[in-house]
Amino acid sequence: MFKEVVKELKKWSSNNENFNKIFKPQTRFETMKSEPDSKFVKIRCPKCKNEQIFFDKATIKVACIVCGNILAEPNGGKAALKARVLEALQ
Ligand SMILES: [Zn+2]
Repeated sequence: MFKEVVKELKKWSSNNENFNKIFKPQTRFETMKSEPDSKFVKIRCPKCKNEQIFFDKATIKVACIVCGNILAEPNGGKAALKARVLEALQ
C-alpha cells in the first residue's frame, strides 16, 4: 500500500513542476523545532561535518566557516536551514 503511494507520488512529482513549491524542503526543519523561541542553534554542515553556532533569525546567508557550503538562507524573517540542527541554545 505505502509503496504504491510513493510510486504514485514520484510519478506525479516528475510530471508536476510545482512539486517542489508545494513540498518545501525547509518545512521539515521548521516542524522539527521544539523550541520556537530559541535564538541560537548549533548546526552541523552536511558536507564537512563542521559544527557551528548560528542565529535562528539570520537575515543573511550563512555559510560554513570551513568549507563555505551554504547552511541557511533568509526566508521572510526566518532562516531556512539547510543543515542539521544538533541542539537549540537558550
Ligand atoms: Zn562545511
